[in-house]
Amino acid sequence: MFNFEPANYIEVESKDSEFFVIFEQSILSFTNENFIRPITQDELNWSYIEEKERHFLGYLNNKQCFVILAEKNQCELEHSIFIDMRSALGRMPDQLFDVIARSIQIINWSKDHQFCGTCGSKMEQHIKERAMECSKCRNQLVYPRISPCVITLIYKENEFLLAHNKNFPPDFYSTLAGFIEPGESVENALKREVLEEVNIKIKNLEYFSSQTWPFPSQLMLGFYAEYDSGEIKPDGEEIDDAQWFNKDNIPKNVPPSNISISGKLIENFINKF
Ligand SMILES: [Zn+2]
Repeated sequence: MFNFEPANYIEVESKDSEFFVIFEQSILSFTNENFIRPITQDELNWSYIEEKERHFLGYLNNKQCFVILAEKNQCELEHSIFIDMRSALGRMPDQLFDVIARSIQIINWSKDHQFCGTCGSKMEQHIKERAMECSKCRNQLVYPRISPCVITLIYKENEFLLAHNKNFPPDFYSTLAGFIEPGESVENALKREVLEEVNIKIKNLEYFSSQTWPFPSQLMLGFYAEYDSGEIKPDGEEIDDAQWFNKDNIPKNVPPSNISISGKLIENFINKF
């Protein structure tokens, strides 16, 4: 079991800390282990990993936990391998998902904020806050960006609507999702996205749950929505097909319920019938 408490600042590093290691868009894992896990201080010493950056993440099972950005994809530990982060999603215990997502987002945020957007000077890590600070203007603090998105399963009695995105493999259907625009409420974003993508109106929005999604920095807000009116008409740009399904007629491939909120929305709805 894992218990993670996020935190941004420590005075002194302990000697029994644990570390996730990232190189570009891949994460350190072991070919002889089923699940991704952090490495210990001892393993870090023996790994001869060349460290480029280190960020404190918080406490994992009460131990200090860090993410390290490696300079190269080299690690001397036996059976170690850097694997693509997206494929890593299926290889992590649920309780580690949030801390690994946090690692990925913090590394990417640091990479993308090396220079000030106002004056172009070099940015530095703020001593106490999770922020980058401009070395020249000083009043420019940049915190990690989180992009809220809405994701929804629309239902009509015992049927639910799933859509096929142009970029999906054939036979793969999922719930509708989209980014919230500046100045927009969650409710209006949901109604707009659904109308734009499949041309139908929805009502009775009901919050389900949320999930972080670190590609690059989404916070997915999951909702159920009841069909109100209109005929399904895919927008043809993002969505090339959308249909009503029911529990006896599910598309061949839908998102897995263990790692995606979309899969959880579908599974939870089906279980009601
Ligand atoms: Zn500046």
